Amino acid sequence: MSRLTEISAGVLVATGDLYVTNSTIVADGSGGCLVIDPAVTVAELAGLAEDLRGLALRPRLGFATHPHWDHVLWSSELGGVPRFASPLAVATAERERAGLIDGAESSAPGHDLELFGRLTPLGDPDEIPWEGPAAVVVTHQGHAPGHSAVFFPGSGTLVAGDMCSDIEVPLLDLDQADPVGDYLAALDRLAELPVERVIPGHGGIGDGAEFLRRIELDRAYLDDLRHGPELRDPRPLAGWLIAQHQTQAAWVANATARASKSRRPASCQAQPDVVR
Ligand SMILES: [Zn+2]
Repeated sequence: MSRLTEISAGVLVATGDLYVTNSTIVADGSGGCLVIDPAVTVAELAGLAEDLRGLALRPRLGFATHPHWDHVLWSSELGGVPRFASPLAVATAERERAGLIDGAESSAPGHDLELFGRLTPLGDPDEIPWEGPAAVVVTHQGHAPGHSAVFFPGSGTLVAGDMCSDIEVPLLDLDQADPVGDYLAALDRLAELPVERVIPGHGGIGDGAEFLRRIELDRAYLDDLRHGPELRDPRPLAGWLIAQHQTQAAWVANATARASKSRRPASCQAQPDVVR
């Protein structure tokens, strides 16, 4: 039985057991397909390739939403086709290659490392270059450098990457200067899209109303994070996500303390002017 489920005309999703990870396939209408974030174990990638053969869909190109190990996987059974990502995502995947390989090897070992993370930067940063349904690339800095959602205006389908999940709070890239601001800006951009169906990197598929609910939950989570460590998010979170929340809350509290410290001398210097 195929693991792929057609969720709208020409859009198929397979959900893996590890981290509830979604692989998205979009058919081009002439026997080819686009493969977004194939994941995650060796067996799951082999199963995906087998299912595509069964459906007579031949991968013509791949797309990686962002430079994390579980989104830059590939298998020779999917064919030697170009796999695109945003230029910043490609540069990040190359720079952090050793760490990404460690992540894959410890959680889903056995992948062909020659194919792992071999990505090509998009020439036109706003569009996937193919003959299938128009695929708009929305690149932002929320969650990871050069993270790209892919939006298909024809069907209102958003492949969100690691955003808009029903089982995860926003996961911030704490190596950035303003990860909360980056994430909020990303949510603003996604919220402008006329989404009828959202496919998160991890979790369940949602309709337009569910998409907006998740955007609001993410905004509320980030707002709470700025005010303290209390976790009020109603989503069912795995233990590692609660630990990650605590790390994020501590980071934000430290950043706030640093910012107020660095502001203090400036305000002290300004005071004599006020007095004068
Ligand atoms: Zn990720």
